[in-house]
Amino acid sequence: MPQPKAIIVGAGIAGIATAIRLAVKGYAVEVYEANAYPGGKLSEFEQQGYRFDAGPSLFTMPQYVDELFVLAGKNPRRYFNYQQLDTVCNYFYEDGTRLSAYANSDELVQELSAKTQEAPENLRRYADNSRRIYDITNHVFLERSLHRLSTYLRWPTIKSILRLPGIDAMRSMHKANNSFFKDKRLVQFYDRYATYNGSNPYKAPATLNVIPYFEQHFGAYFPDGGMYSITSSLVKLAEELGVSFYYNSPVEQILVEDNKAIGIKVNNQIKTADIIISNMDVWFTYKKLLSHLPGIHPKKILQQERSSSALIFYWGISKQFKQLDLHNIFFSADYEAEFNSIWNDGTIGADPTVYLNISSKLKPDDAPEGNENWFVMINVPANKGQDWDALIDLARTNIINKLSRLLGEDISSLIQSESVLDPRSIESRTSSYQGSLYGTSSNNQFAAFLRHANRSSKIKNLYFCGGSVHPGGGIPLCLLSAKIVGDLIPTTS
Ligand SMILES: Cc1cc2nc3c(=O)[nH]c(=O)nc-3n(C[C@H](O)[C@H](O)[C@H](O)COP(=O)(O)OP(=O)(O)OC[C@H]3O[C@@H](n4cnc5c(N)ncnc54)[C@H](O)[C@@H]3O)c2cc1C
Repeated sequence: MPQPKAIIVGAGIAGIATAIRLAVKGYAVEVYEANAYPGGKLSEFEQQGYRFDAGPSLFTMPQYVDELFVLAGKNPRRYFNYQQLDTVCNYFYEDGTRLSAYANSDELVQELSAKTQEAPENLRRYADNSRRIYDITNHVFLERSLHRLSTYLRWPTIKSILRLPGIDAMRSMHKANNSFFKDKRLVQFYDRYATYNGSNPYKAPATLNVIPYFEQHFGAYFPDGGMYSITSSLVKLAEELGVSFYYNSPVEQILVEDNKAIGIKVNNQIKTADIIISNMDVWFTYKKLLSHLPGIHPKKILQQERSSSALIFYWGISKQFKQLDLHNIFFSADYEAEFNSIWNDGTIGADPTVYLNISSKLKPDDAPEGNENWFVMINVPANKGQDWDALIDLARTNIINKLSRLLGEDISSLIQSESVLDPRSIESRTSSYQGSLYGTSSNNQFAAFLRHANRSSKIKNLYFCGGSVHPGGGIPLCLLSAKIVGDLIPTTS
């Protein structure tokens, strides 16, 4: 019997992980990527002597990367290494409070209660609540397809369904956090986790208070070669397994015959395969690659609100700052006003929370000696045609003023080189609808069920992976989407 063939549209992290899983299953795998490089959002670039990871900077759940090497019978440590962070993030508040989120849970409780008015037992109660939500949701919402009957017939799922009231879905994250803590700085600290999947803490269900558990229980990490080494090590593994990558190859159409995906059109050629997997944002998969079949478009799913986007300044900075670490947050004074600007007004407020990542803190060759590579990011609305040039100019001034004020130093005079990524360029570089970072938002209780499934219910042999489909965006969930797709596709005999 000839070897069955799979084609993957897009070499984002989920596309690469799916390629590895299918190669291990015995498929001949071809990956077609529109860009000249792999990784999609998880890519890197050089800028006048500085190296930058272009997108993700926070790395959690490294076991999902390791698992791919193990699956292929390889030792992950020969390809990919990382260290656990002792301090996950430094926080700077406008009232002068500074605190460090330590990885060790006792140290974290001690730090947070010492720097605020909160009793340690409230912090422990909160951590227990996050763990409980994780225990209930993990097997149901994350690791399996939500669109298969067999998921619901498993005993762990039935047990979870019986415990569903415990997931706190009927109130917002902010409301729940406000009920746990008296100190407003801690409410803001925990509300921020909504932004880990591009949501709004004033709307997203308190179920998302599970997110701190991932960071605090499983830890945060830094890959030895920077974030991009996740992409490069997995591409190396895929190539060793015989996967073929074709760059500069934007796929134009998914070919369907008798309700069955049979191939793609790319570079004016037809490529046939037994299985097609789209790692392209599901919105564009339908609107571009399946535009010839409007009758199969899942309208309600495609109308879902998108997650937030981001504005990033990549700055080469001619100084080193001792008070800064790998991850740093400079909070806005009024968090609710900040989210109202993003979600209600579709704009950027005057005082955005600033996230500053400096990979040269742990990888010194990312910046010339004595300097630092600053990845300066704020959350912004999805792209709906706003006047981004004007918004970016204003945001740049506000960010520089804020950082200069809180660090006690004029930042503008230290910027040696600069480039900018905004919702428009995120959309055009990775075909992410409206430049959203994480597919659809999680701003309502039903969001998990309204994310597109990993398999088409209308077209046989068509599958979907990546941040715009189940179980959602962010590196760990994208890797889980590849796992679910791998489980759905039969092993070759
Ligand atoms: C600025 C930023 C910060 C982030 N921070 C974090 C973080 O700290 N931690 C975290 O876990 N996550 C973070 N994320 C989210 C994370 O990067 C994404 O969820 C994840 O990388 C998405 O991977 P993906 O496989 O879905 O696809 P993408 O990375 O979106 O890649 C899709 C690929 O498909 C290609 N493609 C699209 N259409 C076609 C076509 N027609 N033909 C061929 N190829 C096509 C694109 O060119 C692209 O390479 C961040 C994202 C951004 C942008």
